[in-house]
Parts: sequence; structure tokens; C-alpha cells
Amino acid sequence: MTYNWCHGPNCHTNTTVDRVRGSKGNKVLRTRKIKETQWNRNSVWSVFCSQGCYTDFFYKHWQQVIAIAPRREALETPINDPVKETHNTEWGRTWTNTKIEKKGVDNV
Ligand SMILES: [Zn+2]
Repeated sequence: MTYNWCHGPNCHTNTTVDRVRGSKGNKVLRTRKIKETQWNRNSVWSVFCSQGCYTDFFYKHWQQVIAIAPRREALETPINDPVKETHNTEWGRTWTNTKIEKKGVDNV
């Protein structure tokens, strides 16, 4: 069995019963250990025990994370000219929306 420690920087400070370890008089809150399963293998959930720990990690290390793949220019997705659509409801009202379609094979 493969286990990983949760990488949440504050995991060991959350007061939950499952984190309590140690003998009487020497109790601690310990970082959660995560068992690798077929559902979390190769995903962030093999190294984070919760959404909170995942978020704490990013808030603490976001500058280093962004440095891995910095965005220096905007990205663009080609689209067809947007089309205004008007719809009639069965109660005699109308509503409109603007249809935006991406160009390319993904949209077929
Ligand atoms: Zn955690």
C-alpha cells in the first residue's frame, strides 16, 4: 500500500478526532496520511486530504506554482460571429440571448 502525507500546510492544526495521535499526556494533532487508491491515483487527491488543505497549499505557495507556468500573454479561442437569438415563451413573453459558438472540430 502506498501512503502520502497530506501536503496541506495547516492539516496538522485541524481539531478532528482522526488526527489525534500519541500516548496519554503526550497527544498531538498529526498531518493526515492518505492511502493511494484507484480513485485518487495520479491526481491531487493522492497528496491532499481535503479541498481546504488543497486551497491552503495554493495560498501559501501560489508564487512558486505560477512560476512553473507563467502566463505572459492572453490566450484566445476562435469563435463564429455571435448571433442574437429571440425566443418566445408559451406565455407570450420573449427573451433573448447571444449564441457564441467556438470554431473547430470540438463543436461538431
Ligand atoms: Zn490535510
